[in-house]
Amino acid sequence: MPPPVTVALEMPAAGALRAFLDQLIGAHRGSVPDVARPAASGAAATATGRVALVGAGPGDPELLTLRAARLLSQADVLVLDHLVSEGVLALVNPAAERIYVGKESGHHTVPQEEINRLLVRLAREGRQVVRLKGGDPFIFGRGGEELEELLAAGIPFEVVPGITAACGAGAYAGIPLTHRDYAQSVVFATGHRRAGESALDWTALARPRQTAVIYMGVGMLQSHCEAMIHHGRGADTPAALVENGTLPSQRVVTGTLATLPEIAAAAGIHPPALLIIGEVVSLAGRLAWFAGAAASGSLTA
Ligand code: SAH
Repeated sequence: MPPPVTVALEMPAAGALRAFLDQLIGAHRGSVPDVARPAASGAAATATGRVALVGAGPGDPELLTLRAARLLSQADVLVLDHLVSEGVLALVNPAAERIYVGKESGHHTVPQEEINRLLVRLAREGRQVVRLKGGDPFIFGRGGEELEELLAAGIPFEVVPGITAACGAGAYAGIPLTHRDYAQSVVFATGHRRAGESALDWTALARPRQTAVIYMGVGMLQSHCEAMIHHGRGADTPAALVENGTLPSQRVVTGTLATLPEIAAAAGIHPPALLIIGEVVSLAGRLAWFAGAAASGSLTA
């Protein structure tokens, strides 16, 4: 079997990517009616602004949707979390105000209710607001909660899906989340719990011939692996952590449910990282194509 050949993606300079998008978006605008002005959800046509809840994808700016890129280039104000990459931020309208509300951004954490109120206030000022979230806004992103508040306030909104971390990290780590030989289903779960919430449904997560992807699972890695074993998965089930998936700093560590916690600790894996459990992880050794941070002897695409 040939050894894997990894590829260091050539990241386009931010200016070049912006110019490319400007051209593309300009051509698109000229050819079709304005698709990004869907009917307002109940609001009269006033001077009210609008909120676009936009998925920023997992990090590589070229994984943004075209709509996300266009809305970023047109935004008046951006309300964002810490999990948005620099490459994506380089595509934002330079004149747009940026308001950080996410934790670990070097700024204090803004409570969800305050974020909700902020979005309403900004839109009422008549501004085009982009609420930017890592990955997909409806996957562990609390996007639904923010929309309910906008709905109640009569603020028009739209939602732009993004590539969720599981899909991005799986693709760039060479781990197909489903595969006819190994996994017929895939389940996404969050390893982070709110106080008072019940534990994860480990029986469902540990089903055979299924891939389990656990977001926010690094802190509890040991107990997650133990829970999977306790609920019937073999201790030798392949498992991986993908840190900074899709970014040049991406690192992938693989092992088994029994060995991964120690391997990850030795490698010093930190959030954001995704835990992927299941036989599909065994393909990573052969299908990993993206060089990321740890690769040596990589080729440039
Ligand atoms: N809405 C996001 C998830 C937000 S929860 C999405 O759809 O991807 C935040 C968690 O997502 C992180 O703790 C981590 O587990 C995962 N995550 C986000 N970006 C990631 C990345 N680039 N690489 C690996 N994991 C990532």
